[in-house]
Amino acid sequence: MANIVTKTSQTKDTPKSLQTWWQSLTKPSDALTDRERERASSLAALCLVFIPLAIMVSIFGVIANSSDLRNLSSPETIASIVAILLVAISYGFSRTRYFMIGAYFVSLSAITAIIPIIFVTNEPIPHEPLFFLALSVVIGGLILDTRGVFIVGILAIVTMMGGYFYTWDTTADFPVAPLIFTICSNFLILIVSWLRERNLEALHQAQLALQQSRDELADANQTLEVRVAERTAELEEARDEALAAQRIANENSRLKSEFLSTMSHELRTPLNAIEGFTSIMLGGMGIELSPRAEDMVRRVSSNSKRLLHLINDFLDLSRIEAGRLDLTSEPINLEELAHKWKNEVSILADEKGLDFTVTVSPDLPQTILGDEEALSKVAINLLGNAFKFTKEGHVSLCLETADEGWTITVADTGIGIPPHAQEYIFDEFRQVDGSSKRLYGGTGLGLALVQKLVRAMDGRVSLESEVGKGSTFTARLPLRIVKNDNVGVTS
Ligand code: ADP
Repeated sequence: MANIVTKTSQTKDTPKSLQTWWQSLTKPSDALTDRERERASSLAALCLVFIPLAIMVSIFGVIANSSDLRNLSSPETIASIVAILLVAISYGFSRTRYFMIGAYFVSLSAITAIIPIIFVTNEPIPHEPLFFLALSVVIGGLILDTRGVFIVGILAIVTMMGGYFYTWDTTADFPVAPLIFTICSNFLILIVSWLRERNLEALHQAQLALQQSRDELADANQTLEVRVAERTAELEEARDEALAAQRIANENSRLKSEFLSTMSHELRTPLNAIEGFTSIMLGGMGIELSPRAEDMVRRVSSNSKRLLHLINDFLDLSRIEAGRLDLTSEPINLEELAHKWKNEVSILADEKGLDFTVTVSPDLPQTILGDEEALSKVAINLLGNAFKFTKEGHVSLCLETADEGWTITVADTGIGIPPHAQEYIFDEFRQVDGSSKRLYGGTGLGLALVQKLVRAMDGRVSLESEVGKGSTFTARLPLRIVKNDNVGVTS
């Protein structure tokens, strides 16, 4: 296992260490600018490549030109050694801030190459001088500026001509070919160097433009960031204010509900007492009442009942709003419950002579789990409204299963509710006819209570109605059934 790890790390490290090694060999001086560093590093790299190449060319030259391998003092060999030394010196300079001197040294290797032409009068011209001339073309053209290349070129030609006239020999041919080669090669360096400088200048301009647009972009970014930060701070402040306002509103609402709840409770106690005593009086258990007094007590009883009903609605609503409504979950026999509701309201149907039907779908389980009191409040409120707003026709109560659980549907053939009112009648104290001359009594709390109770039971209420034809209120509720002592929920 350990072996594998070692092997992997070795294979990974090799190219990296080669790269680091090469980078450290061509690393320019830190005192140079970016552009200069680039040129210095190129010079170092070129020298490193050319030194072994030059050594090989020189060795081949010695082998090819000399019958005697020990003859190392031939002018070509000396010229090669000098040229290699110059490239090595140039490499040394390339690592310092004076790298340009190094570039001149490399180009001087071209002049060194002329030396054999001066001393060797016999044709053909050896290969080494040509190789070093080519070397100076490449390095000089890549590193030196146009002026430098021009100086080096002139120096090379002058040295060559000077050497020729110095070793004037009437029998020897004038070295036309090397001269043309030297002139051409220097001319070529000049062109390469000029082109490179022109390109470098264009590149420099482009880099400057790029830098400028980068700076502008950075400025714009900074401005944008500042604006975003400002806007975020503003938004955070607004959010904090809104949260604080919401907290105050919630607290106020809670206090209001608490107040209503307490007040309703306080009002209910004396009203219950009134209700109790009037019942006793009407039952003849207290004092003997004259028919007029009995009528008055009956009115007191009916009004206190209404007031009690209103207060109960208030109490329920405020309990729900204050989050103090605790729903129970007890087994309920739906048949029995529907029968109970029928008994409670059939007197209203009889009073108005309305047809009243109650249906419990056989699909429904016999027993479900729920809060009987809350369900009764929903159904009785809906039925009370149906009888109140229906003059003729019929009212129906239907309990059945639905996709989402089960439903309590109360339908009537009453006055109906106009579309615009269907949106607000579930709000507290809202009625279709809210004027003082309205025909029907009521407080506008019944439907609000129905909706809140149904929502508390995880259900929802819907309404379909047409003016003059009737209304259908449907409370959709999740079905909680008793399954082997476990509670199952269908929704
Ligand atoms: P209340 O009946 O005490 O006024 P509700 O909240 O129960 O308060 O009803 C609000 C209003 O909705 C009623 O005043 C009435 O205008 C309208 N409404 C409710 N049920 C019916 C119905 N079955 N038919 C016609 N209008 C209805």
